[in-house]
Amino acid sequence: MRQTLIPYGQHLIEEDDIAAVSAVLRSGPLTQGPQVGAFEEAIAQITQAQYATATHSGTSALHLALRALDVGPGDRVWTSPISFVASANCALYCGATVDFVDIDPITHNLCPHALAQKLAQHARTHTLPRVLIPVHLSGRPCDMAAIAETCRAYGVAILEDASHALGATYNGKPIGACAYSDMTVFSFHPVKIITTAEGGMALTNQSELAAQMERLRSHGIVRDPALMTRETDGPWYYQQIELGYNYRMTELQAALGLSQLERLDALPVQRPPRDTDNTSSWHLYVITFADDSPPSPHVRSRRDHIYYALQSHNIMCSLHYYPIHCQPYYQKMGFQIGDFPHAERYGRTALTLPLFVQLTTDQITRIVEHLTQALNTAPERVKEKNKGKE
Ligand SMILES: *Cc1c(COP(=O)(O)O)cnc(C)c1O
Repeated sequence: MRQTLIPYGQHLIEEDDIAAVSAVLRSGPLTQGPQVGAFEEAIAQITQAQYATATHSGTSALHLALRALDVGPGDRVWTSPISFVASANCALYCGATVDFVDIDPITHNLCPHALAQKLAQHARTHTLPRVLIPVHLSGRPCDMAAIAETCRAYGVAILEDASHALGATYNGKPIGACAYSDMTVFSFHPVKIITTAEGGMALTNQSELAAQMERLRSHGIVRDPALMTRETDGPWYYQQIELGYNYRMTELQAALGLSQLERLDALPVQRPPRDTDNTSSWHLYVITFADDSPPSPHVRSRRDHIYYALQSHNIMCSLHYYPIHCQPYYQKMGFQIGDFPHAERYGRTALTLPLFVQLTTDQITRIVEHLTQALNTAPERVKEKNKGKE
């Protein structure tokens, strides 16, 4: 029997998305209207970057970013050999040459040690790159602190290709904040985290780079007399001061992006973190939930809801552990609620899923199915008899 095809990835379009795009179709401009600005604003807010420039693809955002960094013929751009071809092609569009830095065998991201070695070599032959494009492969952030420190020493600009990494964080800051780079680019192709059908965005904290990208996105045309190279003829007048492109995002795409963005944090489960250099003995499999406390005291928290839902299907979870300092005996010793807030949050959001050697694939499937089902149902109201028990 033929089984149905399972793709490696699939975009998700919900009714809200359809309504958002329809609303633009029914009224409002189709391009160069308010949706693009609102989408740029929303992504800037989420990533904590100061400026955002929406484009019609991730590739065009990479191209604009390199142009804004003034990359041209004779320049060199380095990236990771394990990436989509666009990470390298964007340099060729500018007339620059491309070279690669090998990956770290464990993270599969561009290796900071290989980078340091290669930069030292090329410094001696005066063949340093203008720009490095690290790629956050599969959404896992590169070792940006190490990369940035090395690049700074050699005066190499950094453009993060974060096409896979919208929603990821590095050192507690969102990818896109450009905390360790000059610019960051996202893609909204349907195989990525959220989609605008085709689309991309370039983030930066440098106003000059943002202005340059906005200009190049629309043919290199300016309407502000202050930027014109010749005197203006009047309010109808615009000047093309350099060669740009039409890389604009449409209003339909931006409306879809804004609607999709609502679900960026929708994945409520955090799996156990994995280190790159260390391995776990997998004694326990603890997941945690993003939402800490229920919206009202009469509703169960997400964690409690999942616990009871799985229990009703004979799947027993547990908590490892309730914080020791919150135990009555330790409270009497003088420990206070609030003394160790991270531990207390963990105690409210952690859930140990079944994990033992004899666990079968069928049992795992059953757990995943019921967990998914429970995640898709809203937590119930707490029954009267539970009141005041907590
Ligand atoms: C998808 C992707 C791009 C290009 O994005 P488009 O929106 O398809 O142009 C660039 N780099 C990486 C790593 C990608 O995965």
